[in-house]
Amino acid sequence: MARVRPLVAAGMFAVVLAGLASPAGPARVDAAPVRADAAPVRAGTAAPAAAIVPGSVNRTSLDLDATYRATLKLTWDTRAIWVDSTATVRNTSGGPMDRIELNTIAARLGGIRLRPVTVDRTAVAARVNDQTIVVPLGGVLPAGATTVIRVRYSARLRAGTAGSDWLFARANGIADLYRWLPWVSRRIAFDRPNHGDPFETPTSSSVRVTVVADRRLVLATTGDRVSVSADGLTQVFEAHAVRDFTVTAAADYRTIARRVGGTMIRAWYRPGANGSALLDAAVFAFTALQARLGPYGYDTFRVVQSAGGFGMESPELIWIPSLSSPNLRYQVAHETAHQWFYGIVGNDQATQPFADEAAADVAARFVMGLHRASHCPAARLDRSIYDYSEACYFETIYVQGGNLLDTARRRMGSTAFWAALRGYVAAHRGRLSSTRALLDALDDATPLDLGATLFAVRFPGLY
Ligand SMILES: [Zn+2]
Repeated sequence: MARVRPLVAAGMFAVVLAGLASPAGPARVDAAPVRADAAPVRAGTAAPAAAIVPGSVNRTSLDLDATYRATLKLTWDTRAIWVDSTATVRNTSGGPMDRIELNTIAARLGGIRLRPVTVDRTAVAARVNDQTIVVPLGGVLPAGATTVIRVRYSARLRAGTAGSDWLFARANGIADLYRWLPWVSRRIAFDRPNHGDPFETPTSSSVRVTVVADRRLVLATTGDRVSVSADGLTQVFEAHAVRDFTVTAAADYRTIARRVGGTMIRAWYRPGANGSALLDAAVFAFTALQARLGPYGYDTFRVVQSAGGFGMESPELIWIPSLSSPNLRYQVAHETAHQWFYGIVGNDQATQPFADEAAADVAARFVMGLHRASHCPAARLDRSIYDYSEACYFETIYVQGGNLLDTARRRMGSTAFWAALRGYVAAHRGRLSSTRALLDALDDATPLDLGATLFAVRFPGLY
């Protein structure tokens, strides 16, 4: 995420929005029948109902192989959503487990109404805890076994973009749905004193999402569209090797695209916004970053005008709230850098924000030539998002963190520095990494002792 606020006031699109209002009453979605195509996926040769054995071990894990099939219904005028999601989860953690913790910010921002959660078609006593749906498996899922979890909920998008609302809102003519798809995670507190990202999600090999809207919408999602209904209201998307599935929608999005090597870079923007400036910034950043950080590895990179709030990273997609911001090119570069640090290589964004934010920021500032001093006193860089103030979170983790990494670059040399980061990305592609692994990758690529001479004093918890 980047903290640059958009300059556009929330009310500026009010007239446009009013013009989009449908004369017909919206269909209620939270009472919609369950679609047959969202029925639980049968797990091939596995026998899910027999996989879970009696007992309890009080254990969960993020080291799971989960695939997702979901239907998302969106009623534009009322901002109501209905989600029917099935996760097929194989226990690759190496040990037994008896619950799975699914993250969705609908639980904090959407006034979630959870319907009965089933495990292998049997209802279980799932409960919402902060932004987590805790799903007891009704027994123990042994290592290597597979279970099928179905979650259905209704919720409502926020009407504005204040605070964290922009993550889950329909405002300014755009619907932004971040972390709506209940995803294997762990219990992480949503409230924090800054705009840090309180998430940690492992990669899924396969996500298929059917979006059903009550009006024709142009959608920008993490996945590729694989089908659309004749009336245009139902669109199906698929994604692979992603750790989230973001959905953004507007009735009047326009798109422009340009190919960079094997990747199509596509920008979504509303009429009147400077879509070509957005695309130009993305093409520049993507090209410069890929040259230094190694292959992106996906067919499409999407840069999307969002409803408001901050710039934000998603797999294969970034949100940029204001295309007229003087910081547009930096903001796009920072979010694009997250494709490598967050998207390709994940981490615990809540407790180790340095691993994604400092790495993304040093890369962005390097390609932009934008390094600057921090406005806050030097502070340790190994704390969680909960430990930094709103005033100094960005200045410490992003700016000081990026400057520390840039000091490492100057000491070890640019060639060795970028080669080390390319190696780090390649070694951890599709996985969850850590701040210490990032620092070690740099230290291991130089005869200098960066740990003792540079890192230890800023990361006392790690050295
Ligand atoms: Zn960021």
